[in-house]
Amino acid sequence: MFKTVSALEEILGELPSPCYVVDKSLLEKNAQKLAECSAQSGAKILLALKGFSMWSTFPILSKYLDGVAASSPWEARLGRQEFGKEVHGYAPAYKESELEEMDRLCDHLVFNSLSQAEALSRHCSSSTRLGIRVNPEHSEVATALYDPCAPGSRLGVTIGAFKERLPEGISGIHMHTLCELGADALERTVLALREKANPLLEQSSWINLGGGHHITRDDYDVAKLASVVGRLKDDFGLEVILEPGEAIALNTGWLVSEIVDITNNNGPIAILDTSATAHMPDVLEMPYRPQIWNAGAAGEKKHTYVLGGMTCLAGDVIGEYSFDEALKVGDRLIFGDMAHYSMVKNTTFNGVQLPAIVEFSPISPSFEVIRRFHYDDFRNRLS
Ligand SMILES: *Cc1c(COP(=O)(O)O)cnc(C)c1O
Repeated sequence: MFKTVSALEEILGELPSPCYVVDKSLLEKNAQKLAECSAQSGAKILLALKGFSMWSTFPILSKYLDGVAASSPWEARLGRQEFGKEVHGYAPAYKESELEEMDRLCDHLVFNSLSQAEALSRHCSSSTRLGIRVNPEHSEVATALYDPCAPGSRLGVTIGAFKERLPEGISGIHMHTLCELGADALERTVLALREKANPLLEQSSWINLGGGHHITRDDYDVAKLASVVGRLKDDFGLEVILEPGEAIALNTGWLVSEIVDITNNNGPIAILDTSATAHMPDVLEMPYRPQIWNAGAAGEKKHTYVLGGMTCLAGDVIGEYSFDEALKVGDRLIFGDMAHYSMVKNTTFNGVQLPAIVEFSPISPSFEVIRRFHYDDFRNRLS
């Protein structure tokens, strides 16, 4: 999680605060691992823009990946313009006014329901490969917020609803059921699909296995993924596509923040120039506890603090952390693994300044501030 962080520490005081820092060399290593996984398995691998859309890095990623997965016309445009390879579209629903643009921008377009497949597929051009999302009703994700197979889910069509036939004009199926999981979860899910949806697999020429594959984690079993993919190819003649988001930018970046004040209420509280709700919303949504460089759990080191953010939300609290030295105003903290689902989800809630975006290279070490945000960025989202 803190690879190359010692190089980052050397330039910590020169960075704008707050800022997201992405290490291009770590990102390229992830992309190389994904390209190896693609070569070993024969699956195409796309970047799901939902998780990571830092387009200044797309020239690196597009060397290794086959394209992007987009869920809106804006994501599809960004992918088409900045990535320059295949664009695969899926959204929980398309407005009729958006369909023409999605069809024009996308190589593959996936419908979420039988009703949209039936109503809209005839309006798509013959060169767009059309698919439909299935819900295999096989849950691997424990957190309901992230489980597309939870009871009553609006995502995808349950297998029984197909009556064993793909709709007219549909050539492939899409499935997205995983979140931060290994190849064993993929294997079980594909097994469930094969048991329930064999006729649909036989009618398809491609399958998109969605995201949630933690391929760039050290312990990911790429050989197992390759065997699952290989069997889908051998048994059904399918082209196989994966579209991870998180795995592409996993452990490639940090959020740098500065301490603005230290107060006390039943214990020391440090207020940071960042925010859980505005700059790292998954901390509250997932929820999870981000790692901080040189910090421990509450009570583990000598000085324990509650770390809070700059918004007026009472619950804008990152958590309790302990440090060897007492914190003081102006100290900087480095939050780990903050490249994905951070800058794509942040907000200007309360007018809190958005973190700058920085590209970092551990050689030398050097950095470039790619983007700073200003009052106009806040104002222009309002009227
Ligand atoms: C979120 C999502 C992804 C990417 O998921 P990760 O967990 O970031 O790998 C891929 N496809 C679809 C349809 C998604 O909703």
